[in-house]
Amino acid sequence: MKIGIVGSGFVGSTTCYAMVTQGIGSEFVLIDIDFKLAEAHAQDILHSTPFTHSAKIRSGNYEDLVGAAVVVVAAGVAQKPGETRLQLLERNAQVFEDVIPKVCRNAEDAILLIATNPVDIMTQVATKISGLPPERVIGSGTILDTARFRALLGEYLGISPQSVHAYVLGEHGDSEVLVWSEARVGGVSIFDFAEQIRRPIDEKVKRQIDEGVRFAAYKIIEGKGATYFGIGAGLARLARAILTDERAMLTVSVLNEEVDSVPKVALSLPRIVGRQGVIATLPVKLDDEERKALKRSAEILKQCATEIGY
Ligand code: ADP
Repeated sequence: MKIGIVGSGFVGSTTCYAMVTQGIGSEFVLIDIDFKLAEAHAQDILHSTPFTHSAKIRSGNYEDLVGAAVVVVAAGVAQKPGETRLQLLERNAQVFEDVIPKVCRNAEDAILLIATNPVDIMTQVATKISGLPPERVIGSGTILDTARFRALLGEYLGISPQSVHAYVLGEHGDSEVLVWSEARVGGVSIFDFAEQIRRPIDEKVKRQIDEGVRFAAYKIIEGKGATYFGIGAGLARLARAILTDERAMLTVSVLNEEVDSVPKVALSLPRIVGRQGVIATLPVKLDDEERKALKRSAEILKQCATEIGY
């Protein structure tokens, strides 16, 4: 199946590489305003295929997206010195006004996967510009934050992160909500399990894990200037769920009709993802504190989207 990548910088190219190494997709088209960059990444990734999975990989134009099942949009601009967050957002919205109509004209049946940050706002922008039903415009959202939460809990408890069921909801960013009240190992509360194995989760442990999840990106950017391996793997996971109609539960961002009386806001909730995109959104149980935090996250995102006219 054909996958398009629009914006072949760090995130776009790493996503393609993650997909190829896992055998997700058989044909890739890399598009970038910097054609030489897209071409270079396409060649480099193609050369890895004898060691991994065979796939057609090339750089191209929007017309080459015809027939794509999934298009990842990772195009964006970097913050200029002295530029405010809002000005950066406006410039990224302009990039989407250029890119999204061209994607939709050519890849008529594709599910769009939005990766450009701030991803929830950009998902809202992409949904509006495309005119597609919200379930077909999916932001990577907190897919990675949920993975980080599970990884840190698994590490602390000495168990596989795959056996930890815990979610991060809301904004992919500072106001995100770690849902401790529903965190489980199998069907058992994570707190009960932690007591049982004498690794109790007290306030100090909670704070450490919370900060490890919430501020992970800042630390990584401080060390290497960008984050891309984690999100590349997350986007590959999402594409697999779509291409195989897996109907997997993933925390991803789509435009919601309403979140706790905040209307029309894109943020992450646990969703079932398959060939048609988001098939269902799970009703989540939250305690009072978490509910307030999710509402606050929705309000912050809504205000941001409104400020740039979306
Ligand atoms: P990230 O770390 O988020 O991947 P990069 O700057 O490495 O950031 O990648 C963003 C990519 O988006 C760049 O390669 C840039 O050339 C590309 N880009 C920016 N504007 C457009 C556009 N209008 N159309 C296509 N690609 C674009």
